Amino acid sequence: MAPLDRPTVDRYDYICIGGGSGGVASSRRAASYGKKVALVEVSPYLGGTCVNVGCVPKKIDFAMPPMDITFRGVPEPNFDWPTFKLQRDAYIRKLNNIYEKNLDREHVEYHPGYARFVAKDAIEVIRPNGEKYIPGASLGIDSDGFFELEDQPKRVAIVGAGYIAVELAGVLNALGSETHLIIRKDNVHKHSNVTRVEGEKGKTLTVDCLLWAIGRRSNTENLGLEDIGVKTDKKGDIVVDDYQNTTTKGIYAIGDVQGKALLTPVAIAAGRRLSNRLFGPEKFKDDKLSYRNIPTVIFSHPPIGTVGLTEPEARQLYGDDVKIYKSSFRSLYFSQIDEEHKEPTVYKLVAVGEEERIVGVHMIGQGSDEALQGFAVAVKMGARKKDFDDTVAIHPTSAEGESSMLSVIAADVLGLYVELVTMR
Ligand code: NDP
Repeated sequence: MAPLDRPTVDRYDYICIGGGSGGVASSRRAASYGKKVALVEVSPYLGGTCVNVGCVPKKIDFAMPPMDITFRGVPEPNFDWPTFKLQRDAYIRKLNNIYEKNLDREHVEYHPGYARFVAKDAIEVIRPNGEKYIPGASLGIDSDGFFELEDQPKRVAIVGAGYIAVELAGVLNALGSETHLIIRKDNVHKHSNVTRVEGEKGKTLTVDCLLWAIGRRSNTENLGLEDIGVKTDKKGDIVVDDYQNTTTKGIYAIGDVQGKALLTPVAIAAGRRLSNRLFGPEKFKDDKLSYRNIPTVIFSHPPIGTVGLTEPEARQLYGDDVKIYKSSFRSLYFSQIDEEHKEPTVYKLVAVGEEERIVGVHMIGQGSDEALQGFAVAVKMGARKKDFDDTVAIHPTSAEGESSMLSVIAADVLGLYVELVTMR
């Protein structure tokens, strides 16, 4: 169905505010149970942060060959930012269309506009008029602005040390921009608190582009939530229980807006389960997403993957029952690359108790992003260190360092083997 373009008054079984991954998934699932469903989205582009200004364009950027790493005998790749941006934008527009078609196919009515509660069971939709609802910073850009940059900045300062800062710093650095990461704790530009930004000349750092990556805020201010009793916390995130219920009956929140595990697959999983619970068969009457052991990857260079408890978290819970297994080596992938550009790989297992149940897996190194998914299944199932050891490795891969022989000694052997192969 094409977007509705005239005022309508209609009744629905289920209305999703927000056409991001969670809203789209949940609305389609509800519609699959024969419910009458509407979805409201203010952005002209469906898909939300992930598709438009997050995971997807970021991953396309991430896939660019690092400009400072060349394989022996292979010339440095050329990179033209404006051409690349055009291609990336075209790809994203294709995805936006697919999202719209999917809604259409499942008979979810799509209403472009800004939703606002006028009662507990009624919203109004203000049609888009070109006004931007999420204002950017006055000097400097945020991660949305990053994807709008028409040219590659030569010198960039990025404020923050979270997912977005580290990932975008990695991309810019790999593409040859002089990249500064400003962190207010201890690292890189240590103890630097940005208190003033000057347009022309920075006090200690002169850059072409300042990127704020200091966390994203939920856009809940003008929804009329307070009028209908939906509580938000001091950050503006909507307060929900384990079943995504807000403090007002019949209104639910999933995805980034509820402030927990801001990840696309989490929003999708929570959204589908919610629709299963509300509209699905009896077997789903208690369906909910468990927020424990959610794997996540920082797409830095090299990538970092993590699932389960960190060592400090485990020690706090289990004290001396915690045992750590660590392994570090150089991936075979870098065998033909100059020494200074070889990336390290480090894996860490957090084991607990006599049976050494694995409660955390943490990896940094090339391929960690792909390898983590399988290990996350193992952690979720309660695998023990012995199960990791008993699994025959796939060789030569990086993940074998974790699966079958992650004792420090075995890892050293693996490192040696990689070096031997390198010399061949
Ligand atoms: P994060 O919450 O991950 O990080 C925010 C960073 O900004 C922290 O390092 C914080 O430092 C710093 N910070 C906060 N306020 C200030 C300040 N006033 N001055 C200087 N530094 C400051 O937020 P992101 O924006 O990076 O990402 C938002 C969410 O998006 C994340 O929660 C993540 O889940 C999700 N995301 C996930 C990705 C993935 O799965 N690969 C990729 C991108 C985003 P401090 O530690 O000092 O508080």
